[in-house]
Amino acid sequence: MKKNCSLNREHYREILEEALKVFDFRLFRERENKQATSPVIYLRHDLDHSLSLAYEMALLEKELNVRSTYFVQSHADFYNPFTDSGTKLLREIKNMGHEIGFHYDLNYYKKNGIDFNKGFLMEKNLIENLIGNEIRSAARHFPHKEIAGQESFSVSEFSLYDAYSPLFIKSLKYISDSGHSWREGCVCQHLHKKQDMQVLTHPVWWMGEGNSWQKKLKKEGEVQAKTLTRETQEIIDYYEVYLKKR
Ligand SMILES: [Zn+2]
Ligand SMILES: [Zn+2]
Repeated sequence: MKKNCSLNREHYREILEEALKVFDFRLFRERENKQATSPVIYLRHDLDHSLSLAYEMALLEKELNVRSTYFVQSHADFYNPFTDSGTKLLREIKNMGHEIGFHYDLNYYKKNGIDFNKGFLMEKNLIENLIGNEIRSAARHFPHKEIAGQESFSVSEFSLYDAYSPLFIKSLKYISDSGHSWREGCVCQHLHKKQDMQVLTHPVWWMGEGNSWQKKLKKEGEVQAKTLTRETQEIIDYYEVYLKKR
């Protein structure tokens, strides 16, 4: 496998092409499916920064016949699945055959005085209604952050698959590109071991523009600022015409 393990779309494609030779790609909701004859990859994406970059990743995967699970937030700081464009992107990701999971944030509930169970259910229902599907899996945002009261909360109470349960962490190899770096080396270095894996990648690191994580994040911020400026101008234009007619 190529040794230039930069996080970009070219290497992402190489990784998938290599993995496809050996692995069976499973959705989280397919955990109970009958025993696979090939090693299995649960390919997971946590959406923290951009729905449009997630959409681009989903397209690339679709082109290669790979299915993965996209964990989405309902109240992320950097995207909104409930805008016209957000809804469209999320539904298109689902319609490509990928699974939509729930990327929940206990810290948000805590900070805003929302009961964990009520908040979780509220947001899960919102996303389910948006995509027109039941949510079957969830992954926590900032899972290592200790939050008072979190011991009383469990995703399994909602009959969902928890991406952080021992099923997906301990009984197989778990690797993640968190913080734009693989703690145990790039996923491509693990493929030859042919062991079952959960692989977490964040679309902004692979589909984002720039050769450093800072540039990728800044670029994404610029794209969003431009969109907001354009939409603000559209509102101004609309009201100028409307007020002239009145
Ligand atoms: Zn690599
Ligand atoms: Zn996250």
